[in-house]
Amino acid sequence: MKTIVVASNNKHKIKEIKEILADYNILTLSDIDFYDEIVENGKTFEENALIKAKTVHNYLKEKNLEYIVMAEDSGLCVDSLDGAPGVYSARYAGDHNDQANRDKLLKELVGKDKKAYFICNIILYYPNCEYKSFVGKTEGKITEEEIGNKDFGYDCVFYSNELNKTFGEAKQEEKNMVSHRARALQEMLKNM
Ligand code: IMP
Repeated sequence: MKTIVVASNNKHKIKEIKEILADYNILTLSDIDFYDEIVENGKTFEENALIKAKTVHNYLKEKNLEYIVMAEDSGLCVDSLDGAPGVYSARYAGDHNDQANRDKLLKELVGKDKKAYFICNIILYYPNCEYKSFVGKTEGKITEEEIGNKDFGYDCVFYSNELNKTFGEAKQEEKNMVSHRARALQEMLKNM
């Protein structure tokens, strides 16, 4: 079984990734004893994913470990907010507080158009420093209130046009049929 190191410790992302990459041995950052904070100061999702991938690749190289690294950066973009929260999705309200982020978003959108999409950019970084980039997108609109499970980011305020319910109401299998992350992962599986 091929091993891929996923440059994340986000348990929700890891769960989704492990379900879709079921034929791979997935290692997380804690599995490789990587505990440093990675500063994601890129201007685009791709730049941020590349920062994460290179940082983890360099760490593995120092330990003479030749694993493929997969990094992803994702977020929510709202048209009427000029693409915000965008690359700042995790810290829209100033910190990594999902509830505060959602509260700010719902407040900002009162009286505004609520069309939105989730986007995910994956970088697959090989031991020889070559890399490939994959993008997945899913469209919907922001609800007026939270509906469904509040565990992960903006799931309970994102109404999926394809599922006709919020991601917070969807079962994991349903979300994995249409999500930005699932789509980027499917592209990756076809082209790796
Ligand atoms: P990242 O970990 O720097 O990529 O931050 C991405 C942020 O975007 C997360 O903290 C969530 O707030 C949000 N996000 C990305 N994907 C999803 C999703 O599938 N559901 C809900 N929120 C998401």
